[in-house]
Amino acid sequence: MPEGDTVWRAARMLDRALSGRTLTTSDFRVPEYATWDLVGAEVAETTARGKHLLTRIDADRSWTLHTHLKMEGGWRVLRPGQRWPRPAHTARVVLATDDTVAVGFQLGIVEIVPRDRESDLVGHLGPDLLGPDWDPAEAVRRLRADPDRAVKEALLDQRNLAGVGNMYAGELCFVLGLDPRTPVGRVPDLARLVGRAHQMLDQNRHRAVQSTTGDLARGRNLWVHARGGQPCRRCGTRIVESSSGPEGQERVTFHCPHCQPLL
Ligand SMILES: [Zn+2]
Repeated sequence: MPEGDTVWRAARMLDRALSGRTLTTSDFRVPEYATWDLVGAEVAETTARGKHLLTRIDADRSWTLHTHLKMEGGWRVLRPGQRWPRPAHTARVVLATDDTVAVGFQLGIVEIVPRDRESDLVGHLGPDLLGPDWDPAEAVRRLRADPDRAVKEALLDQRNLAGVGNMYAGELCFVLGLDPRTPVGRVPDLARLVGRAHQMLDQNRHRAVQSTTGDLARGRNLWVHARGGQPCRRCGTRIVESSSGPEGQERVTFHCPHCQPLL
C-alpha cells in the first residue's frame, strides 16, 4: 500500500504534467463516469490530502477528480504514443494534453465531484503530514482521544493523522521503541512520535528510495519492515512477523521483541 509520501510524489508529477493545460482526451474507465467528457477543460492543479489525490478541472463548472491508489494503484505520465508500462485493461483514467498522457492504473477510487464538495471526500482526515497546514498538536489530540487503542492501529487511522501507511507505522514503532500493540495511553511521548512521523515522510518525499534508517541502499533502508526472521539492526534479535488489526483488515506487522518491549 502506498504511503503518504508516494502519493505526494504522484500529485506533484501530475501537477507538473497537467496544470494549466487543456485536456484533449478524458477517458474514465469506470462505469459511473464512463460517459463523462472533459475534453476542452483546463486542469487547474493536482494536490494530495493524506493518501487522496485531488485533480481540479475547470469545465462548465469546477470539478474535482478524486483518485486513490489503494493497494496496487499508480499514476504514470507518458509521452503520446509511448508504450504503457501496465496492461491497458488495468487503466482506470486517461487524461491527455497536446504533449502528455497521464494514465491511472488500478486505482482504488475514481470519482468526480463538484469542487465545493471536496470536503465530503477528505473532510474526515486528520492533519496531513505533508500538507501546508500540518498540525502536530491536533494529531496528538486525536490520537489521545482513544487511549486504549494499539499505537500502530492508531497511526494507520487516517482520521488521526493522514499519510502513514503500514510500512511507516511499523518503522515508527521501532524507532520509538514501542511494541506495536502498546496502548496509545501508555506511549510516553506522543508529540515525539508524531514529530518523527512527519520527519520520516518529509525526508522521503523527494527520495526515489524510501529510507527510515538513513541508509539509501536497498536492503539497508528499513529497520524492521518486511524483515521477518532477519536479525534486528540494533541488537541482532530475530524480527518477528505477525498479523494484527480488525478481522478482514489484518495487516502484517514486524517488530523486534527486544528493542520494542510491550509497555
Ligand atoms: Zn532489536
